[in-house]
Amino acid sequence: MSVRINLDLDTLRTLSVAHDLGSLARAAEQLGRTPSAISLQMKRLQDDLGASLFRKNGRKLVLTEGGVVALDYARRILNLHDQLLDTMQGASMAGQIRIGCTQDFASVLPSVLSHFSSLYPRMQVELRIEGNAALAAAIIKTTEPREALKTKEQIAREANDALFDANAKELRKRQRENLRFNQDRCDHIAGGSDLSEQRDVHGRTSIVWHRTDAQIDVGVCTTCDRHFHPEDALDAQGHDYTYWRRKPSFNKLSTAGFRQFMNPLKAQHDSYLRDS
Ligand SMILES: [Zn+2]
Repeated sequence: MSVRINLDLDTLRTLSVAHDLGSLARAAEQLGRTPSAISLQMKRLQDDLGASLFRKNGRKLVLTEGGVVALDYARRILNLHDQLLDTMQGASMAGQIRIGCTQDFASVLPSVLSHFSSLYPRMQVELRIEGNAALAAAIIKTTEPREALKTKEQIAREANDALFDANAKELRKRQRENLRFNQDRCDHIAGGSDLSEQRDVHGRTSIVWHRTDAQIDVGVCTTCDRHFHPEDALDAQGHDYTYWRRKPSFNKLSTAGFRQFMNPLKAQHDSYLRDS
């Protein structure tokens, strides 16, 4: 296997410039080299390629057929090379830049900024044209920490989450309103609300009373889930805790976490059997 030589990119660029300018001497001037250095580069390139690239035509530099092919490849190679550099260093640079400027210098900005944005298409430029005092204040403000830039995905996800939260909040609010509505309408009488026909014949409540460790009786209505505490304010029906506590409960008092409440229909049935 033969060992390949590596062509020098700098030499390929000299070839391209020399062809554009029409002479090695002008290329040397443009590239800041001596004419002999340029000549040497071209000689080495011809040696590496094993072909003669130029033919003299008076003072003008003319390419041979091999030279045309070499120039074509050289330009493609340089193009790819330059693209690589641009991509890695320039075009891939993304972010935000803030420019503050006084009115005096604002006239040069359009051309400068359009050149900048063509070099760095993913950079966002924020421009402020202000007086000196406002610019100084803005500089002080930018030294304060600010929020990192968000990706499109992050913004979309956050918007989605916010919508979801708002919906969930609205749902919980409606559930609370619904519960409150039912509690206000419930007369806590065994068997259900006034919409129910299953009332307890003895007017007993559907409240389960539970004696806490502190020996306080707290209740919960099995129909509407309303809780009864000694410190309760008057309810929608104008009754307080004492009123409901005095009422006979359909359920047994439970203690220490043991709760027992009975089936109101079965109780009616039992009392029917007992009374008849
Ligand atoms: Zn109730």
